[in-house]
Amino acid sequence: MTVIAGPCSAESLEQTLLTARQLAEAGVTIFRAGVWKPRTSPGCFEGVGEPALPWLQKVREETGMQVATEVATRAHVEAALRHDIDILWIGARTTANPFAVQEVADALAEAGPDILVYVKNPVSPDLEAWIGAMQRIRRAGITRIGAIHRGFYSYGDPLYRNSPQWRIPLDLRARHPEIEILCDPSHIGGRRDLIEPLATQALDMGFDGLIIESHCSPDEALSDAAQQITPATLREILSRLVVRDRPADFEGIEGLRAEIDTLDAKLIEILGRRMEVSREIGRRKEAGGIPVVQPGRYSDMQASRVAAAAAQGIDAGFMRRLLSMIHEESVRIQVAPEAAEPPRVKSQE
Ligand code: PEP
Ligand code: MN
Repeated sequence: MTVIAGPCSAESLEQTLLTARQLAEAGVTIFRAGVWKPRTSPGCFEGVGEPALPWLQKVREETGMQVATEVATRAHVEAALRHDIDILWIGARTTANPFAVQEVADALAEAGPDILVYVKNPVSPDLEAWIGAMQRIRRAGITRIGAIHRGFYSYGDPLYRNSPQWRIPLDLRARHPEIEILCDPSHIGGRRDLIEPLATQALDMGFDGLIIESHCSPDEALSDAAQQITPATLREILSRLVVRDRPADFEGIEGLRAEIDTLDAKLIEILGRRMEVSREIGRRKEAGGIPVVQPGRYSDMQASRVAAAAAQGIDAGFMRRLLSMIHEESVRIQVAPEAAEPPRVKSQE
């Protein structure tokens, strides 16, 4: 299993080296540190830039770890290669922009290094953009390419900084089983306490490894402090993780799968009935001139459903997300009840 760990940002020679030494002691062999930081809001720490690259070289010299950093422009690629950085990654904001990915790809094609490049998923849940970015890097002559799942921005997600939307990396795996996929629980969770459960879930789903932010003094980190853990905590988490083989069919599971199939069929039937009722309510609201959304009704409904779900051991965050999707679809149907009629199958016409 690949494990990459290190601070969100290289902040000083001391912080970089101290973190690296502690991680090397914890058994980590690939060190990450951001040198150029794409920050959402201006005024945040934007990284030390090129002067931090010799610190990474020092990490390799002292600890023997390979070193990795993020690149987003031609100048970044050239500087990173001049400093013999072993591994590059393309960040989520860059993957979302084909011009930027192409610029990075062109710089790589010109320098022609034999280097490993990881491509993080784009900020929005767009599998094609993720694959497209990897294709641009491959066309630049890079043969070792991996993917990093760091979650997707989702407005108002109550739990995650970037919602995992596991289906997307799993679809990537189905389409490109040859690509190594790492999970970045730090940027998905955005919180220290979510690192271990997310890492566990990723390994259970057959991910090939993890990239985790770790800092010698997380509380004092200049970027992403809330999600960074100490190397000692990382070591404990790694010792508890179980690496499973890629999902296999094992005995006894068929019966349970059949039960899931039946339950899913019931769920779909119930959802269909629920949408039909929504459609009828939409017709009546339209006839009565009543607005479609009554905010009070939705929050009351959400509270009672979340409580009922909790009594069955269903996670509150999950229930809220599910209800919000169902509600959104109901509103869509009610706004145009006739247009949203399900398409008829030919034989019914
Ligand atoms: C990072 O790894 O520190 C980073 C900026 O990640 P992302 O591009 O996933 O936001
Ligand atoms: Mn970060």
